[in-house]
Amino acid sequence: MRVLAVGAHPDDLELLCGGTLAKYAAQGHHVTMAVATNGEVGSMTLPKEEIAAVRKAEAAAAAAVIGADFVWMGYPDEFLFSREETRLAFINLMRRARPDVVIAHSPTDYHPDHRNSGQMCWDIRVMTTVPNIKTEYPVCATIPEIFYMDTIAGISFQPEQYVDISESFEAKRKMLASHKSQGGWLEAQYGMTYLEFMEHVARFRGLQCGVRYAECFQSSTTFPRWCKPSLLP
Ligand SMILES: [Zn+2]
Repeated sequence: MRVLAVGAHPDDLELLCGGTLAKYAAQGHHVTMAVATNGEVGSMTLPKEEIAAVRKAEAAAAAAVIGADFVWMGYPDEFLFSREETRLAFINLMRRARPDVVIAHSPTDYHPDHRNSGQMCWDIRVMTTVPNIKTEYPVCATIPEIFYMDTIAGISFQPEQYVDISESFEAKRKMLASHKSQGGWLEAQYGMTYLEFMEHVARFRGLQCGVRYAECFQSSTTFPRWCKPSLLP
């Protein structure tokens, strides 16, 4: 299978579905990790261009942990909107990755970049197969199935399906640890490191489904749907 995960910011995928992506990769599936924005507001001290470059390198290193293809879309952090140009870029991304499965942000997530990124994945999935919409890559043969990943801290997210990530948890930790530039702010605001934050959520989701560590997903529920077994690992 081919899997495409689209995160709004560098580190979102590692936090919200990194264990599942590591599990897909370990099972021999092809994984693409795409980051929509450049993370340029993610520093209290470095200027925009500098922190964006740092975060791009960190995200690339995280993808390399599991041998995933890495796509950096480079839209301005905090200002990702659904308009013609961005939708064409998302269509082109999907045509490049040619996924059977797309993992996207939930419509109930707190951040507008998350919601807009997830909404665009959903809105353009059929358009990837339409030849009269031209982009750099050729049209997809099939419409991919989309799963929504958990929200930050699991707030307002009702899990439908769980993935046991106990075996891939160390890979997830290593992926997230690549984002060294993000080490400070969470600790300052919430009194825990981002690795501790991630582990709390993975343990809690594991508690819900009877394993050590888990990640959870929702399937999308509008037309078109697919008559096949779950494509989650
Ligand atoms: Zn984010």
